[in-house]
Amino acid sequence: MIKAVFIDIDGTLLDFEACVEESMRCGLVENGVEYKPEMLETFHKINDGFWRDLEQGKITFEELLERRWATVFKALGIDLNGPEFETYFRKRLHESAIPMEGSYETLEYLSGKYRLFAASNGPHEQQIERLRKADMLKYFDEVFTSGKIGAEKPSADFFTYCFEKAADIKPEESFMLGDSITSDMKGGNAFGMKTVWLNLNGKEKPEWVDFEIKSLDEVKNII
Ligand SMILES: [Mg+2]
Repeated sequence: MIKAVFIDIDGTLLDFEACVEESMRCGLVENGVEYKPEMLETFHKINDGFWRDLEQGKITFEELLERRWATVFKALGIDLNGPEFETYFRKRLHESAIPMEGSYETLEYLSGKYRLFAASNGPHEQQIERLRKADMLKYFDEVFTSGKIGAEKPSADFFTYCFEKAADIKPEESFMLGDSITSDMKGGNAFGMKTVWLNLNGKEKPEWVDFEIKSLDEVKNII
């Protein structure tokens, strides 16, 4: 019998991409720069390159923060201070909470049937605040974050902590709902949970993932 649903936050309940766009747009406008959508593409291209370099150990996270906006502004011909904008951007991003389509309906529906837990790779206070801001915090028995636990999805340490806290629930009595194959689905599956993948980009479902949905309103067909 299913007792609980664990739900990822970014890309599942909150639209992280929209939060990035909003933070960049507002930051530029506040600095008197006219915002154009193609600027976001430039940001993503440069940002992805920095994250790749970070993953390959070519730069440190501090270097990424120091350099990425300066690089973006140089590419766009914008005369703003990169590191200063970085500080603004990150603060704004951490406060923004734009809901994904269908998220409230899904939380209403699920909370009437199951106990709900948030399960997120992110800083603890920040994720709590963003859920509160989006008026979603009230749906959750507990918010589990990598920031608090000290381990990230998909690691077993993350899920061990969750099920120690929710001691009356077994992994096989719970679903993991999220948009990431590598963190949500891999982690939940390896821990013996049932998995529901929010596949927004029409990628191919790995056969070991239990269920696939194209939008959150399909959750009620499954859970
Ligand atoms: Mg996610």
